[in-house]
Amino acid sequence: MDFELGIVLRATDEHQANAPTDLAKLAEERGLDLVVVEPVPADGAIDSWTLAAWLAGATSRIGIGIDARRPSAPDPADSAAPYPSVIERARESIDRLAPGRVMTDAATWVVASADSDAAALAAVAQRDGRPVVVPVNSREELERIAALVPDRTRAKGRRRSAAARARRVAGIDYDGVPESLAETAVEPGDPEYASVASTYLRGGQPGLVLRPRTPDEVGDALAFASRHPELPLGIRSAGHGISGRSTNKGGLVIDVGAMDSIEVLDVDRRLVRIGPGATWKRVAAALAPYGWALGSGDYGGVGVGGLATAGGIGFLSRKHGLTIDHVRAVELVVPDGRLVRATATENPDLFWAVRGAGANFGIATAFEFEVSEVGDVGWAQLMFVTNDLEESLRRYGELASAAPRDTTVFLVTGQPQDGMARLQLYGMVDNPDADTVVERLTPFLELGMLAQQQVVMTRYESVMALAADVGPEGQHGYGEPHSRSAFIDELTPEFARDATRMLETGAVHFFELRAMGGAIADVSPDATAFAFRTPAFQVTAMGARDDRLNRAWAPLRGHMDGLYLSFETDRTPQTLRDAFPPRVLDRLRALKRRYDPHNLLRDNFDIDPSGATSLAPAQTPREAIA
Ligand SMILES: Cc1cc2nc3c(=O)[nH]c(=O)nc-3n(C[C@H](O)[C@H](O)[C@H](O)COP(=O)(O)OP(=O)(O)OC[C@H]3O[C@@H](n4cnc5c(N)ncnc54)[C@H](O)[C@@H]3O)c2cc1C
Repeated sequence: MDFELGIVLRATDEHQANAPTDLAKLAEERGLDLVVVEPVPADGAIDSWTLAAWLAGATSRIGIGIDARRPSAPDPADSAAPYPSVIERARESIDRLAPGRVMTDAATWVVASADSDAAALAAVAQRDGRPVVVPVNSREELERIAALVPDRTRAKGRRRSAAARARRVAGIDYDGVPESLAETAVEPGDPEYASVASTYLRGGQPGLVLRPRTPDEVGDALAFASRHPELPLGIRSAGHGISGRSTNKGGLVIDVGAMDSIEVLDVDRRLVRIGPGATWKRVAAALAPYGWALGSGDYGGVGVGGLATAGGIGFLSRKHGLTIDHVRAVELVVPDGRLVRATATENPDLFWAVRGAGANFGIATAFEFEVSEVGDVGWAQLMFVTNDLEESLRRYGELASAAPRDTTVFLVTGQPQDGMARLQLYGMVDNPDADTVVERLTPFLELGMLAQQQVVMTRYESVMALAADVGPEGQHGYGEPHSRSAFIDELTPEFARDATRMLETGAVHFFELRAMGGAIADVSPDATAFAFRTPAFQVTAMGARDDRLNRAWAPLRGHMDGLYLSFETDRTPQTLRDAFPPRVLDRLRALKRRYDPHNLLRDNFDIDPSGATSLAPAQTPREAIA
């Protein structure tokens, strides 16, 4: 019979300082599962938390048990009684030292008598269903217990200690995780949990992260998720989602980051096949040796999966179109587990929907793109200071829209300080001639006092490479981003005025204008679910507080038409209607009924197939403002 077996150590001063550590290390070496530190309230004894921390540092796998049920309030009558806040802090600290290994409730293990034999231990385990621990005082006693470690040769999948299992979230069928995913799945009690819990901008505590490596495994993950329809479900590629909730609290995440291959299919047609987990930085680096590039967003850390299912407004868009305009095929695992290929001729409806509203229809497992020939580009980072923000914004609008389509200049600013605003301009000129680059950028120099400048001839790859790498420790975003997004047809003086007023409120710390036009507008609004082809700019505002952001943003609404979902965090019904014009939304809903009738995929601009939009909270921000 397989059960968890451990020892109990006493934190007394009878031991040499190293004796408990030696015993704990030996217990780990001998395959035991748990070492419980028994508190000894006597003066002179080593404090049990201190000993537990010491043992945690000296070992790497074994669970550490410490009986520390938290008192609800300090006890003024007992000077030795622990303070709840001190206990909580100690618990958090030791959990950081030994993530997922610490158990702090004596009810989660059972103590058997010191002279128990194998049969007695098995009987206790069978009766109780908890890990069994036996008090030991010496190496000899420990060796005797270690010889009774149950035979686990027949146990399947990844084994988790009772400490790790104690972190499981109620309502998730952990034991029912499909065999194909069990080895790579991450639970709250696993050491690698901290590296998968949060995303770039959002903190999270999912109950289970499934990490499929193949389309079949994605199908298994979706089948598992469909057995938990009441739980939040996040779909993750590289974790840079702003609108998409690719993490959550207590729910499931399907992370396809491992599917990140980049392959050239046809050199003559410049056809490449890319997995959703690749980042744009890696894509740019892989295409550069061929003299190619695929326009993406402005940050190379963003993932292919999230961006290529939404739009992709970037530095090459005015010349080469949106990222979705280069998609020639998408392969998706749809909620019923089928792998479906969508192209202009195969499943064309789905192909239309995926390019703009893809997150609602399936989990993309591969994209085929026809990429562009892109040589050296001019790349500019300019910083201006202006005391007339309104006029600078207005003029920027004129210049960015009038620029030839090889020139794309984005503007970022925030709250003016002491009447002075700082404007950051990020511009790319897709032209290998340095004189032309200078000519294209020179008009922008009138936007204010030039405080910093860097203009270089480089490759698209180098610009994407400016993004930081995410290492094995993962992303560590926290909280919840608040962002508003919209399109404007033209940057009018009235918009510049109202945007300036909004920035002066201080409610917006990040405001970006992405220049559109050019090749984006060459594509018919009916060709993809991304229907806003004619706006001159995409506008984003981020703020620390949603209510303040809404109040500041409200006056801008009159200037706007539609929104780009990738930068919007509001989940009100109106927002869904802003993201998709009525005829597009109707068509998407009809398709949703076909591909996802139970609305499993809903973490990003949820298109409820029933039409009763599930984005609705009780009150919309607009009502809140009124
Ligand atoms: C710093 C930064 C800069 C950005 N700059 C730009 C920019 O210049 N232009 C632009 O267009 N966007 C930009 N974005 C927005 C970005 O494109 C989206 O947030 C995108 O969704 C992130 O993709 P991801 O795979 O990294 O994110 P994830 O968090 O992994 O995914 C986000 C959402 O996309 C969906 N999704 C992810 N993978 C899949 C999949 N395989 N199949 C189906 N749906 C999936 C899910 O709904 C998910 O919640 C930027 C974002 C950040 C954080």
